[in-house]
Amino acid sequence: MNDIHQPLAELVSFVRQAYPFILQQDLYRYLIGAGGTFLLVNTALAGWLSARKIRADRPSARQMLREFVASLRTVLIFSLIGLSIALAARAGVIRVIESPAEFGWWYFGFNVVALIVGHDAWFYWTHRLMHRPRLFRWFHRLHHRSNNPSPWTSYAFDASEAVVNGLYLPLAMLLMPTSIPAAFVFTAHMMLRNAIGHCGYEVFPARGDGRPLLGWLTSVTHHDLHHARAGWNFGLYFTWWDRLMGTEHPDYHRHFAAAVGRPLALPTGGSTA
Ligand SMILES: [Zn+2]
Ligand SMILES: [Zn+2]
Repeated sequence: MNDIHQPLAELVSFVRQAYPFILQQDLYRYLIGAGGTFLLVNTALAGWLSARKIRADRPSARQMLREFVASLRTVLIFSLIGLSIALAARAGVIRVIESPAEFGWWYFGFNVVALIVGHDAWFYWTHRLMHRPRLFRWFHRLHHRSNNPSPWTSYAFDASEAVVNGLYLPLAMLLMPTSIPAAFVFTAHMMLRNAIGHCGYEVFPARGDGRPLLGWLTSVTHHDLHHARAGWNFGLYFTWWDRLMGTEHPDYHRHFAAAVGRPLALPTGGSTA
């Protein structure tokens, strides 16, 4: 009897030890990422950034409360996916590198960049699929109930969308040995870009000609336009998929220039439209 019960008892003990920590990590990430962005950008710096407010109106308290409640469900789903990663690592299905030094620091850098670039591709294509009329109502409607988003929108997903989003990390870890610190940096970056992308103020730097200084990154205006006019700007971190696939909003640069309060200079031989 003991031989049968021992592994089960060890598994239960592992889950009881690991899960509270994983849940806490996911919850704190959202509270610090979304809450910190809300307190800093939308509250403390709101006056100073008022000239960079993308839209005149603000999201209502009711909308933000709805987003917060939906995001708690996403936290729960992400934590269960996190637990499945821990269990897969325990079973030897996923290789988790004990310390970044084990594979060298160059691998740590590669690991983080590959996770981010891979996630951008995963997000772009699953996001485009979710905008197909048949899938939209099952996967993505809740996120777009926030026409004028707030930092709290960043985890406001239907349960099905949260699963699709959350599945990226275990799939990537199946293909690529990953250390806990690399996964931590990846998820912290994901949260930060996500919360800032929904904050409603254009915080990205602009060039003198009114275009983004870092044109390969999705600015706040980029994702804000996605919420205002779904059908364009599906990318999460980078603009390259939208540009490659012709899904960047044709008026993106005009909207960006307006958000940063600069006249948009015409490219040579082109138009701003
Ligand atoms: Zn969308
Ligand atoms: Zn969004």
